[in-house]
Amino acid sequence: MELVDTHCHIQSVGALHGEVFTRALWEKAGDRDPAAVIDRALDAGVTRLICVGCNLEDSDLAVEFVRERPQCWASVGMHPHEADEYAADESARDRFAKLLSRPKVVAVGECGLDYFYEHSDKKSQRRVLEFQLVLASRYDLPVIFHVRDAFDDFWPIFERFSSPARPIRGVLHSFTDSSANLEKGLRHGLYIGVNGITTFTKKPDQQAVYRQIPLDALLLETDAPFLTPAPYRGKICEPYHVLTTLEFLAGQRGELVETIAAVTTENARQLFGI
Ligand SMILES: [Zn+2]
Repeated sequence: MELVDTHCHIQSVGALHGEVFTRALWEKAGDRDPAAVIDRALDAGVTRLICVGCNLEDSDLAVEFVRERPQCWASVGMHPHEADEYAADESARDRFAKLLSRPKVVAVGECGLDYFYEHSDKKSQRRVLEFQLVLASRYDLPVIFHVRDAFDDFWPIFERFSSPARPIRGVLHSFTDSSANLEKGLRHGLYIGVNGITTFTKKPDQQAVYRQIPLDALLLETDAPFLTPAPYRGKICEPYHVLTTLEFLAGQRGELVETIAAVTTENARQLFGI
């Protein structure tokens, strides 16, 4: 059985630069050896990992990190939390665009809108998302979307950039929204990324949404070092935890672990070309 972690932030394990929150969490866990993290993933059958960048420095780190590691690929992105900085900095956006043609870069993101935390101004968030959609179209790359409490603003932007002739391909990562937005995502041909949240959310309607996701649109992810699945809450999340989420989902959906593993791995290979 082979699994893919389609969304993790392991490029900052033991790193001295990169995204500050992720680095702090790895640091807290006392884990400074990326090779050990990858080995534990491989032991759990997680044979492919997408290392997702959240800002310019972190994306650069991801691109470097995956170069010599055959199990890893990179996504380069500007997270909505960081949008204020990039909305005002054209030279940083240029440097970001240059990263997209580097080897093993398979996606743009994570990018999107986060009105829950609103760490950046909404206007900046929209502008930086639009910039990344232009690049995704230009480089013909799929997009890893982070959308939280912001779908009403997200869909009109998405629909301006995606057409039947030139659709934007991608995944709604860490999906926790309504079945109406699930349906809309599916209609647009987007994949739905599910992580440890499914194992610990107490919301019954949320669990119903996870059961509704068609297998052929489902992707597994961890968002490591965040969102550790139950019953391991309190520990650091690692890519090997994909297996825990998979086992939980299989129980909830009444499907075989092997079936979900095979289909989601094929989905990830199709979307990211890995
Ligand atoms: Zn993430």
